Amino acid sequence: MFDTHIHTHNSHDSEQEIDALCRSAIEKGVNAVSLTDHIDVFAYSEEHNTKVITGSAKDADYAKSTYSEELKIFKGVEVGVYHYDSEMSKKICSLCELDIILGSVHSFMLNGEKVHFSRDNISEEVLSKEKLINQADAYFNEMLATAETADIDVLCHLTYPLRYINAKYNRNLDINIYSAKITQILKTLIERQIALEINTARVGTDFNYTAPTFDIVNEYYNLGGRLITIGSDAHTPEKIANGFDYVKTALKEIGFDKYYYFEKRRPKSVKL
Ligand SMILES: [Zn+2]
Ligand SMILES: [Zn+2]
Repeated sequence: MFDTHIHTHNSHDSEQEIDALCRSAIEKGVNAVSLTDHIDVFAYSEEHNTKVITGSAKDADYAKSTYSEELKIFKGVEVGVYHYDSEMSKKICSLCELDIILGSVHSFMLNGEKVHFSRDNISEEVLSKEKLINQADAYFNEMLATAETADIDVLCHLTYPLRYINAKYNRNLDINIYSAKITQILKTLIERQIALEINTARVGTDFNYTAPTFDIVNEYYNLGGRLITIGSDAHTPEKIANGFDYVKTALKEIGFDKYYYFEKRRPKSVKL
């Protein structure tokens, strides 16, 4: 099991200590983990981003020296809206010798307003379905811009807003209205040889879906896409490699026979 998306206490939303992370991974029979803490050129300052990436790299070095016999450790990062300041994103990513760079979109600007799906105490006005439809549309535009321009290895948790719009806010949004845009994103990934992540964070919860869902993964396969990674997006030790067995079986049913991890920013295959 190669889990290519894991957060540590260096991320603002995780308290996961490196020893607990590694011990849990070893206990679960995981072969390799990529530490991919959050940086975001829109949401955070350069100072904050620098602190995150250097802290995470330091933890990765420590883990490599301590657990190398039982677990492979890869140095990575998850960059939010890379294209909002490509130069800054590149600069921060060049501070450490990374194995893997994930690209994602959590928050972004729309009509002069900051959109951030996971915010708590959300008002009814913000929750209007019409507004959410526009916000999700804008989200896919930002994901497309990321896929088209960012210097990344993997595009993460495509369809991310659904875990809020359809799970947390219970708005029953039909993803099919964005299918043309999703196809465009998938084609761009294939063209630019950027991997598609199968994010397993919500598998086994009330919102029991991967991101993207298997119908989108199936479309990617039919378009000729083979470069996939599997990431638990674990923020706590018990979530490492969450749902991997289930997801691997589903991927084999689609037709995939391998998935990938990244070392020194090059894809390496693992048998499914
Ligand atoms: Zn993310
Ligand atoms: Zn993440």
